[in-house]
Amino acid sequence: MTARILVVDDVPANVKLLEARLVAEYFDVLTAGDGRAALAICENRPVDLVLLDIMMPDMDGFEVCERLKANSRTAHIPVVMVTALDQPSDRVRGLKAGADDFLTKPVNDLQLMSRVKSLVRLKNVSDELRLRAQTAHTIGLRELAHADRPDEPGNVLLVDGRASSQERLQRALKPIAEVAVISDPQAALFEAAENSFDLVIVNANFDDYDPLRLCSQLRSLERTRFIPILLVTEQGSEEMIVRALELGVTDYIMRPIDPNELVARSLTQIRRKHCNDQLRASVQHTIELAITDDLTGLHNRRYLDSHLKLLIDRASARGRPLSICITDIDRFKLVNDTYGHDAGDEVLREFAKRVRATVRGADLACRFGGEEFVIVMPDTTPEMATIVAERLRLMVEGRGFGISQGDTVLSVTASLGIATLRPGDDTPEALLKRADMALYQAKSNGRNRVVAAAA
Ligand code: GH3
Ligand code: MG
Ligand code: MG
Repeated sequence: MTARILVVDDVPANVKLLEARLVAEYFDVLTAGDGRAALAICENRPVDLVLLDIMMPDMDGFEVCERLKANSRTAHIPVVMVTALDQPSDRVRGLKAGADDFLTKPVNDLQLMSRVKSLVRLKNVSDELRLRAQTAHTIGLRELAHADRPDEPGNVLLVDGRASSQERLQRALKPIAEVAVISDPQAALFEAAENSFDLVIVNANFDDYDPLRLCSQLRSLERTRFIPILLVTEQGSEEMIVRALELGVTDYIMRPIDPNELVARSLTQIRRKHCNDQLRASVQHTIELAITDDLTGLHNRRYLDSHLKLLIDRASARGRPLSICITDIDRFKLVNDTYGHDAGDEVLREFAKRVRATVRGADLACRFGGEEFVIVMPDTTPEMATIVAERLRLMVEGRGFGISQGDTVLSVTASLGIATLRPGDDTPEALLKRADMALYQAKSNGRNRVVAAAA
């Protein structure tokens, strides 16, 4: 993981110290000795994270943070406040100023690296989302253009062996999450697998159970692999924390728990989970858009071109038949010419509906272009394909096509051509070509009929 980190502190020695440790982990480090310089850097250069000292002359860390968060060009940059251990009120002020997390002076390596990595991961996914939202906005896809939604409450599973701490943690998290509590760590694994949580908090306080066992099981189950885990440990359990982080635990917090710190850290994990979920959904959606025909919702020609080859290879490998049917609406131009293009679109949509109603789940129905549709039927002989095509022909002819103009109902017919895979080295192009020739035959024999190509 590489990222550009801005270290802000008025004491040069502090800056040097943090810089050296971050550079040793291959981070790219920028430094600033006061608030104004920090703001200028964030404004002008891409920064992935700010480590911000609080006590600075002129402009203190709170104000710098507030200004960063108020500026739309810098609001998305995570800010970690570096606070003194004995100043819990600083954390409350930090949260109010919009800080994403805290580090306590003197900063130890484990703290520094886990916080920095956790926030850089969040920044990476949210950057990707912002980029996609921007593109979606540019090309006019409204559904995808909502990266900057306000925080939705998270679903948290709290695994905690003790009633007293359960209650305390639940109360602290109330403003940001729905919390389900469970005492038995083994039952927790099933609970996590069966529900969709945004975060699992494991409080390492069981009488005779190793909390890392649960963490490792959560990391290995398919259904829980991507849920962030926040581990709550005793002061001084550095060794356990190192092992936990190696196992893939996302972050940790030490007792006694500062509720503000718990909220900040939980929020970071919940946000990242939400961003990840959104990203995954957007990839899915993009794929669907790319292979779907807008007008009819059927697969488009691009999808057919890539998928037909696979279906043919599979049929050949298994020695199974495969047939395709091309259908073209008869005299469709007349519909457009008489009733307008919108009415033509309505007919196409209804036609697609009837195609969909004809085919089985294993069949692939596509809009090939204009008023032509292709149905690919695996495991289907020419005889069976002819029956299917005839059924579709009757479904089109048998019932009129209503259009929203007045109460007009149009009579529509279609011609259909069928071709079947030839054993040997048949190709998608050759198969489509034979079906198209059969379709041409159907048209020239008088339309509204099915013709099968010679095998
Ligand atoms: P034939 O029986 O020989 O197939 O005659 P036809 O009129 O159906 O064939 P032709 O290829 O001459 O015309 C097809 C028409 O389909 C022309 C084109 O404007 C129209 N068309 C293609 N795509 C769309 C579309 O998305 N919406 C609408 N409304 N019309 C379309
Ligand atoms: Mg036509
Ligand atoms: Mg045509």
